[in-house]
Amino acid sequence: MAANILDIRKNFPVLNQQVNDEQLVYLDNAATAQRPTAVTDSLVHFYQTDNANVHRGVHTLAERATEDYENARVKVQHFINAAESAEVIFTKGTTDGLNLVASTYGEQVIQAGDEIVISIMEHHSNLIPWQQLAIKKHATLKYIGLTADGELDMADAADKITDKTKIVAIAHASNVLGTLNPLADLAKLAHQHGAIIVGDGAQAVPHHPVDVQALDVDFYAFSGHKMMGPTGIGALYGKRALLEQMPPYQFGGEMIDFVHQQDSTWAQLPYKFEAGTQNIAGAVGLGSAVDYLSDIGMANVAAHEQAIVDYLLPKLVADPDLAVYGPHDPAKHTGVIAFNVKGIHPHDIATALDMEGVAVRAGHHCAQPLMTYLGLVATARASFYLYNTKQDADRLLVALAETKEFFN
Ligand code: PLP
Repeated sequence: MAANILDIRKNFPVLNQQVNDEQLVYLDNAATAQRPTAVTDSLVHFYQTDNANVHRGVHTLAERATEDYENARVKVQHFINAAESAEVIFTKGTTDGLNLVASTYGEQVIQAGDEIVISIMEHHSNLIPWQQLAIKKHATLKYIGLTADGELDMADAADKITDKTKIVAIAHASNVLGTLNPLADLAKLAHQHGAIIVGDGAQAVPHHPVDVQALDVDFYAFSGHKMMGPTGIGALYGKRALLEQMPPYQFGGEMIDFVHQQDSTWAQLPYKFEAGTQNIAGAVGLGSAVDYLSDIGMANVAAHEQAIVDYLLPKLVADPDLAVYGPHDPAKHTGVIAFNVKGIHPHDIATALDMEGVAVRAGHHCAQPLMTYLGLVATARASFYLYNTKQDADRLLVALAETKEFFN
């Protein structure tokens, strides 16, 4: 992988530009990734040759568009090892997928007095849908806490998940702490208590091999744009038995079997959950992103990012002016690194780094309960992907040193 990283970078023209007279170093991948030309080409190709609505027409373009769309579903199925493509529902992204589960399965199952268990590290997308469901149904929302080094506290998980628990919803990988949570162990725990488990895969699917059957998750949501696909497309995996019993998410065209004047019946899976014209080109682009990542191999992607973390994290941790959040052991840390610099507001850090051509995020990262738990308002965050290099990590270190000098 290290040998052909320069070839890989050539696939991302956006990286080859100057920002503030410096070569761009893009370290905001947890917010959204860049797209390779294979993905942007696939969008242009679809619109220029196959564009039509799917599942409706009998004309050639409609058949081609339908084939492209359904091929993309099969690619996603294989990428996460779902048992069948009907268990893959196209969504707008992770937020949409999690809202779908909360407002269908959640609405159907949760009753007054039931418990929903999430963790304190959740992104608002995997928090507010459950919070609002709990309020509406007079259920209780419980939070699993963290260990001293910022990992999910599995002893606390064993305490919080009880026979009253109906739904456990946990991030597979944190977008702040850089932790990969033991989702398979949590699934076992949830199932022992008769609960189902929902995985938020937004930060995991782009960076690690994911096998939904091995994890034994009941639902699993992720976004295309964080894995080099287009924005406005994502996927929700659900086990067939659960999807079958759930009511539809939205109503309209495409999701029906037959409509009578006073009632209707629903289409088979996965169409029951895909009301209206979908983001067809987005799905095609997501399929291309899956092809791109699969050609490189997700184990290679993970190993490449780990090598950067192994190199960078100890240097950041060793700096007495920096507070680095999440585990300090590189082996326990993903390529998402949140930090603060003593005496400098994170927004000032991000602005100063941008002046050096280094793009990082600053803010609460849509995880305000986590910020409050950690006694923080905001952090800076550098997040890496397969086109980043150790040289990018060095550029971050140099820009940080210059920022500290400027402010002190
Ligand atoms: N969950 C996590 C862990 C995330 O990092 C994000 C986005 O940053 C989301 C959910 C929401 O993803 P989207 O905005 O693509 O729906």
